[in-house]
Amino acid sequence: MEDKIGVFICTGYGIAEALDIDALSKVATEEYKVPFCKTIDSCEKADLKTINDDIVSEGLNKVVIAGISPRRYTDNMFPEDIIVEKVAIREHVVWCQPPNEEDTQMMAEDYLRMYITKIQKMETLEPFHPEEAIDKSILVVGGGVTGLTSALEAAKTGYDVRLVEKTDKLGGWLGKQYKSIPSKPPYRDLEDTRIDQLIADINGNSRIKVYTSAVTSEITGAPGLFDVTLKSNGNGKPGGEVLDKFRVGAIIQATGWKPKEPRDTLSYGRVEDVIRNVDLEEMVKEQGRITRPSDGKEVKSIAFIQCGGSRNKDHHSHCSSICCLTSLKQATYLREQDENAKAYIFYEFIRTPGHYEDFYRKTQEDPGIFFTRGDVADVTRDEDGKLTVTAKDTMQGEQIQVKVDLVVLAAGMVPNSADSEAIRALEDAKFTVATGESEVQKEKATEKVKELESHEGTQILNLEYRQGPDLPVLHYGFPDSHFICFPYESRRTGIYAAGSVRQPMDSILSREDATGAALKAIQCVEMTSRGEALHPRAGDKSYPDFFMQRCTQCKRCTEECPFGALNEDEKGTPLVHPTRCRRCGVCMGACPERIVTFKDFSVSIVVSMIQAVEVPDEYEEKPRILALLCENDAFPAMDLVGQHRLHYDPFVRIIPVRCLGSVNTAWIKEAISSGYDGVIMIGCKYGDDYQCHFIKGSELAFSRGENIREKLEQMAMETERVELHQLQISEYEKLPEIFNNFAEVIEEYGMNPFKGM
Ligand code: SF4
Ligand code: SF4
Repeated sequence: MEDKIGVFICTGYGIAEALDIDALSKVATEEYKVPFCKTIDSCEKADLKTINDDIVSEGLNKVVIAGISPRRYTDNMFPEDIIVEKVAIREHVVWCQPPNEEDTQMMAEDYLRMYITKIQKMETLEPFHPEEAIDKSILVVGGGVTGLTSALEAAKTGYDVRLVEKTDKLGGWLGKQYKSIPSKPPYRDLEDTRIDQLIADINGNSRIKVYTSAVTSEITGAPGLFDVTLKSNGNGKPGGEVLDKFRVGAIIQATGWKPKEPRDTLSYGRVEDVIRNVDLEEMVKEQGRITRPSDGKEVKSIAFIQCGGSRNKDHHSHCSSICCLTSLKQATYLREQDENAKAYIFYEFIRTPGHYEDFYRKTQEDPGIFFTRGDVADVTRDEDGKLTVTAKDTMQGEQIQVKVDLVVLAAGMVPNSADSEAIRALEDAKFTVATGESEVQKEKATEKVKELESHEGTQILNLEYRQGPDLPVLHYGFPDSHFICFPYESRRTGIYAAGSVRQPMDSILSREDATGAALKAIQCVEMTSRGEALHPRAGDKSYPDFFMQRCTQCKRCTEECPFGALNEDEKGTPLVHPTRCRRCGVCMGACPERIVTFKDFSVSIVVSMIQAVEVPDEYEEKPRILALLCENDAFPAMDLVGQHRLHYDPFVRIIPVRCLGSVNTAWIKEAISSGYDGVIMIGCKYGDDYQCHFIKGSELAFSRGENIREKLEQMAMETERVELHQLQISEYEKLPEIFNNFAEVIEEYGMNPFKGM
């Protein structure tokens, strides 16, 4: 169908008072000869109806609305097949620049040019629908409280579930607990774990198929099309027997945790009556009373040592969140067993957040529970068979000793995801690479780094992914995507981490977490079946198209895709799995051959937008700065710049990009060749606590900086003409300063000699 573009210019909100609307209209009608251009009084909800009427009466199929920011339109008011682009001349121009000045007018006209050019090149989106039907069932890996709750919640919502547990029974750690910490007012009394009821509900639900003593030996495919092979459990790894093969649409990994081995100095493993909190829990569950492992005698006194393996920078540096409450609970077991028994709790800090403080208070009121702040230095066996605990740095500044029957160490939680030993070995190897004494030592360590980096995580899921068989993990082995913004999301689309494999949490929080993950899995299968992207470009119907005839098999896209969406064949040709794709465009930024395109975002579209700006010649002394802003934080921050009426350099021209990782160096080269005086790129913050919505896109843009420098040097241009910045949306007030400082740098270097060539 032939394009028929309509341009609507809003005159409300002070726009007409600040700009020459006739001149702006002429950009559309005379320069671009668009067949239909109209001014409108406002461009909010009610007024959009008039645009819809014109779309119908004029037969328009592409519409540019110059007015308020695209982020102000919360609903899509237009028919699906109409391509609409919105230009924020209110927020980005009129609210930030002085009215009726030449530079303000030039800015508005340039934006109209850029977006008319853009829409000319955009094509109608057609959502991706694979040839095979999308499967909406859900695989839950892990039969503890999180896995069971996820399975039950998904099944109750109407989705079929396959639940896989590696041991021979359901329940996980909660199944081994005697009682639970209080979950309801007055938050003082221990409760039944309710795990038996949960297991009964699972077994009674016809939508849930349970596999025990089973592990996933292979998972191929992509969201909506995951093909799973289950094998018998051969000591934690796939055994010989294939139990089943089936297809699912999404996966929840609820593989829980394992206890961290306590510090050596606390005698665990050497002295029989020094046990871990998990051991005590299992003992009480099994025999209903606390006895000494060494002689089976009833215990009259226990020393609980908090952070027995945690929050120690040399051992296990993070808090496991449940250990304090577990010790309070277990001290209560002892006191219920024997009213004369004594529990000594040695701690540095007691952490009992929220309502759990009430339970803490109850134990403080108990005359048989003693709290001592101090660092336990030693645990020794006495001749009389008792144990002596020595603590130093107590609140009184004295060293104290307590004789007890049993010592219980609050062992921390390690997620059952990554191989934490492998993570530590990787860190050691990297350290040697950086600081090794000899080249031979460094080379060996480099080889080790390569070997360890090629395998991320233990083989729990056994994904057939080019980028590794498991969910990649964060620093401490948690496979979460981000701890604040994106819970449950992992770096593998359609696979969600939940419960204590995601972060340390108790069983009450695990139940909530399980429900959240079940919702994410449901969202995944539903949106995938509609051909839409998942978080963070939720609902996006575009997807990347690879023009394979020109692929040089350089593997940059397959290595850099943050979500493992691309496998590759033996020659290195990318094998695209569109339903794994989050539409970030990182592959487009990576590809030196520029063969990756989206129908609404491509190297060529952005090049056209860059070229559409009128670049004054050098004698006019009006530089032009191209600003490539990430759509997730930096570009929305521009709206806040407008709302706060903050002024910024009028020579900046902004183009939003899906992620800074989607920036192709061709755009920078094009800008400089077209006479722009500088290019500034602003993306989200990166690092382990990243905010980059596409995980490493922003970081990739920085690491590709070397290519950019090379390009500039080839063009005999100063490398200072390109700058990269990280910014979070709350730092919006820094944006004008960043632009203005860069404009000063450009002024120092003078006009680009390519102008007018
Ligand atoms: S758009 Fe992003 S998620 Fe999709 S294939 Fe490219 S790099 Fe991977
Ligand atoms: S980056 Fe481009 S050329 Fe390289 S493998 Fe990927 S698609 Fe092919």
